Amino acid sequence: MTVSGSVSQAEFDRLWSQVSSIGRVASGGYRRFAWTAEDLTLREWFAAACAERGLDVTVDRAGNQWAWWGDPDAAGPGGPGPGGPGVAIGSHLDSVPDGGAFDGPLGVVSSLLVVDMLRRAGATPARPLAVVNFADEEGARFGVACGGSRLLTGALGAPRALALRDDNGTSLAEALRGAGRDPDRLAADPEALRRVGCFVELHVEQGRGLADLGRPVAVGTAIWGHGRWRFDLPGEANHAGTTRLSDRRDPTLAHATLVLRARELAQRHGVVATCGKVRVEPNGVNAIPSLVTGWLDARGDDDAAVRAMVAGFSDAVAEVGGIFTQESWTDRTPFDAGLLRRLDAALDRAPHLPTGAGHDAGILANAGVPTAMLFVRNPTGISHSPAEYAEPGDCLAGVVALARVVEGLMCLAGMPGSSHASRYRQFCRTSRPGCGQRL
Ligand SMILES: [Zn+2]
Repeated sequence: MTVSGSVSQAEFDRLWSQVSSIGRVASGGYRRFAWTAEDLTLREWFAAACAERGLDVTVDRAGNQWAWWGDPDAAGPGGPGPGGPGVAIGSHLDSVPDGGAFDGPLGVVSSLLVVDMLRRAGATPARPLAVVNFADEEGARFGVACGGSRLLTGALGAPRALALRDDNGTSLAEALRGAGRDPDRLAADPEALRRVGCFVELHVEQGRGLADLGRPVAVGTAIWGHGRWRFDLPGEANHAGTTRLSDRRDPTLAHATLVLRARELAQRHGVVATCGKVRVEPNGVNAIPSLVTGWLDARGDDDAAVRAMVAGFSDAVAEVGGIFTQESWTDRTPFDAGLLRRLDAALDRAPHLPTGAGHDAGILANAGVPTAMLFVRNPTGISHSPAEYAEPGDCLAGVVALARVVEGLMCLAGMPGSSHASRYRQFCRTSRPGCGQRL
């Protein structure tokens, strides 16, 4: 199988223009929240774009859309049977509030264009190939990021997910019903997951790594260790005019010192830390607060460094009489070493970059699926904002890189040393004459 080397700007623009107006708001950003009308329009678009390419879309029990080319359930040549070594590519179509155009859709559109390139080359994938649209990646509506992939893998249980509520008090169960879905179907889907032998997610870069390197595409190496913590700072409610400064117990002062402390500790330990959310009670202009609740988000490439930063912060919270609670923690998630070697071989020394952002790829990696990511340069380095951007030429470079990766994976089904390898050795001989690579 040989994929033709390029994709045209017109091809990219045509597909891109089909999604670029959906969910766009006055700020120039996007509001595409899970199971809203905008999301449903995008899901219909995805199904239609797949149908146009002769691919049927199936929806797994977690609500993710999969368009398989080749039968991932067939036994023997062309299909894996149990163990599912199909190749999946894709990303998500939902957004954060006023999010950028590229976060998610770039991966989906690029994956559909890879299918076009394979078709144009007259190729029939030696392994089943899927394009996936993960549901509710951003968690913008119900507060849990990567909801679709977490449900799929069982990392998020259906009962807990169904009870999540949006800002209007609508539960996920009600939102699903409103979207014509049966909430009782929502569940982990090991069968759908088994079909995925490996997953490669192309994504716009969400920092300035590539802009500084002067390169259009990078290979993702890992997702940083990351977590969220809550700190409750009790105070004493009182009148803003009649209470002497010396008599006050004002928890906003403690909060302010802790925000500064987080910054200082992050710098000392070489990690990033953010206090981006705060709740003040009773939240009145003329009332000294009775309680301030703050949140800390901390991340880094070295789990121990993040832990050290958080330990220092926890001490600082205790010093001001606060209560510190961990809400979540995910260890650094390295992408699959064998798959990274494949990407390196296909991409001729593209730079390596870890990422501080969470992705469905990380959830699948934690579920044991060999997973990798490609990042496309974002010259602004800004993401989750209308300022997020990728140059047209870089988008095309991303599509070509993804096509090369898929080509390599088609030829060499199964990871080196994996249980899949011997079963698929024959594909290596037949899919690309002269390849001869031993698995
Ligand atoms: Zn994303």
